[in-house]
Amino acid sequence: MDKNLKIAVIGLGLIGGSILKSLKNKQYELIAIARREETIQKAKEQKLADVYSTDLSVIKSADIIFICTPINKIKTMIDNVIDHADANAIITDVASLKSFVMEYVDNLQKPIKFIGGHPMAGTEYKGIDSALDDLYIEAKWVLTPSKNTNKQDIGILTNIINNTGAKAVVADAKQHDSAVALISHMPLFLSQALYSYVNNYPDRDVKELALKLAASGFRDSTRLAATNVELAQDMITNNIQNVLNASNGLKDSLTSLEDLLSVDKEKFFELIADIAKSRMNMYTEDGKNKLL
Ligand code: NAP
Repeated sequence: MDKNLKIAVIGLGLIGGSILKSLKNKQYELIAIARREETIQKAKEQKLADVYSTDLSVIKSADIIFICTPINKIKTMIDNVIDHADANAIITDVASLKSFVMEYVDNLQKPIKFIGGHPMAGTEYKGIDSALDDLYIEAKWVLTPSKNTNKQDIGILTNIINNTGAKAVVADAKQHDSAVALISHMPLFLSQALYSYVNNYPDRDVKELALKLAASGFRDSTRLAATNVELAQDMITNNIQNVLNASNGLKDSLTSLEDLLSVDKEKFFELIADIAKSRMNMYTEDGKNKLL
């Protein structure tokens, strides 16, 4: 444990609030920074940190700084953090996309100690009231080194991430963005399309019955459609090419399943049995990804 490290968290929403909750009582000194006084009051009521402020200058003494604001505020926030942080502070972020952040950091005139981050955990809710103390338990937390990142800083950040309950996975930013298009952003798109198709089904009586009968299958397949709208817009627009590529690949996959169903039912049954087995093997019984 890196005792006495001072950790600042900027943006106390679902992700930032959950970082504070998961690092509470772990012997770090925690500094909570929010935009609105109301959010600071809520953080104080829950005793999430040791220092609270709406003024960014409090990050001056921080060793580690987590930027947890929406994606569309990250670049401005990096500039603001540079103006106030110590030159030796390790700065990280949590944005769901990494290429644009890493390109921005790698092209800064003055090098900074920045390591990109993306915790692979979330819910459809937003704001400090939705923060959870167990959000990161067993979650993967992607780290994307910048051109100036050294191994020691990766080690320090990895220790902190381990203390949230997550597991750090170092990855290339571009590969990360392609991968999350497959498992997060295209499924968001799919979930929106599925919900919209059913909700706008032309036979009104059938539609109303379907929505009345909808249980866990429909709920799980459309959960992402309820994603925080600012986040959904930012994820799709900032990863548009990867999302469109993945969405086109998905259409091909659907078409090939349809073709097989109409020409060879036996083969179709074999294929869906293989798919079911592979999907069953991917997760443990309590829903944890077995890989890594
Ligand atoms: P959120 O719950 O809406 O929280 C965002 C927080 O940022 C709010 O508390 C807001 O403060 C604060 N904020 C907004 N503009 C600010 C500014 N200019 N200065 C300081 N604080 C500001 O969103 P979130 O889900 O935590 O997402 C935050 C980041 O996490 C995003 O970059 C997202 O890509 C990433 N992420 C999200 C998920 C997910 O599933 N939600 C998963 C992984 C990563 P106020 O409370 O004062 O309004």
